Amino acid sequence: MSILKIEPFGERLIAMRRHLHANPELSHEEFETTATIRRWLSEANIRIADFPLRTGVVAEVGGSLGGPVIAIRADIDALPVQEETGLPFASLNKGKMHACGHDFHTAAAMGAALLLKKKESELPGTVRFLFQPAEEKAKGAQQVIASGALKGVKAIFGLHNKPDLPVGTIGIKGGPIMAAADGFVIEVHGRGSHAAIPEAGLDPIIVSAHIVTALQSIVSRNVGALDSAVISVTRIQSGTAWNVIPDKAVLDGTLRTFDPRVRKRVRERFEQIVAGIAGAFETSAEVSWIEGPPAVRNDAGWAERASRTAEKLGLRVVPPAPSLAGEDFAFYLKETPGLFLFIGTDGPHEWHHPAFDVDERALEHSASYLAALAVDALQQL
Ligand SMILES: [Zn+2]
Ligand SMILES: [Zn+2]
Repeated sequence: MSILKIEPFGERLIAMRRHLHANPELSHEEFETTATIRRWLSEANIRIADFPLRTGVVAEVGGSLGGPVIAIRADIDALPVQEETGLPFASLNKGKMHACGHDFHTAAAMGAALLLKKKESELPGTVRFLFQPAEEKAKGAQQVIASGALKGVKAIFGLHNKPDLPVGTIGIKGGPIMAAADGFVIEVHGRGSHAAIPEAGLDPIIVSAHIVTALQSIVSRNVGALDSAVISVTRIQSGTAWNVIPDKAVLDGTLRTFDPRVRKRVRERFEQIVAGIAGAFETSAEVSWIEGPPAVRNDAGWAERASRTAEKLGLRVVPPAPSLAGEDFAFYLKETPGLFLFIGTDGPHEWHHPAFDVDERALEHSASYLAALAVDALQQL
């Protein structure tokens, strides 16, 4: 039986989410997922819009009465995590898991599309659904934008499940809500030597140790106490043997900030510290940045209006603490105003944990809420 025939509606959304959950695909490889979403859309007679995307799909509901276009975005990719939930619908794909709950987002957005389809002829505009690939690599949003799917969109909405909020709550907040997420690679160039004759070499491991320690002083000494920044060195690679001083060390990590001025200042200090310490030890070092998405900054007006929609549906609106995680939804908000909101899913673990899960009771009201938000937004534009 087709999933679309399952009643009641909440059960249907759960079946969709479980199907996606059991068949996770990594960023840029969401071919089966895309085919599944396309099949569900076609079975429901929902129009698939023609934008050139390798994976991911864009669909539209409404438009027969003219009116503005708004977008709802759901990300569809999974993570390279080996699932440890023990659920009956756990991942069938070894080493891959919907550990960020993008299966939930996709099912919720599909649900909203199905609800809006029922009143398509009355919709005062078009709701464009962006089933976006490769969020976890922070690349998919830019691909969707490059495909032209954001052209003419007057407002965009995106959701993320939130394990620390109870079911029945929606987290909405104007201003920054998720952080700018930059990556860095530091290469320290020293000179190799015998481990017992260090004076003949320039030890890049000693230099790396000083760099790691000194970088932490940026957050405590160069960033104001009321501003936020995180610097994490997450990988150090150097050396081949216990008795050889290597000639090179590579350090990787990430920088998270909300405020563009803080981001700029931290990066300046970062480069000064790396160059200064390397120089102090007669070595050299270079920093390369992996430019991540900027911070997700919500429009205050849409935050206010979306809160009213939630209250109308009897959902409790809570002001969420901003997350230092990154989200490529930020790229959409650079192009058009909108809102990124959190849906309470009362999970046992945080995002990306191998036993991550959502409370599926949140699915039905998430779909209803997205549909109501779309209608309210179209009416207000
Ligand atoms: Zn994630
Ligand atoms: Zn996510």
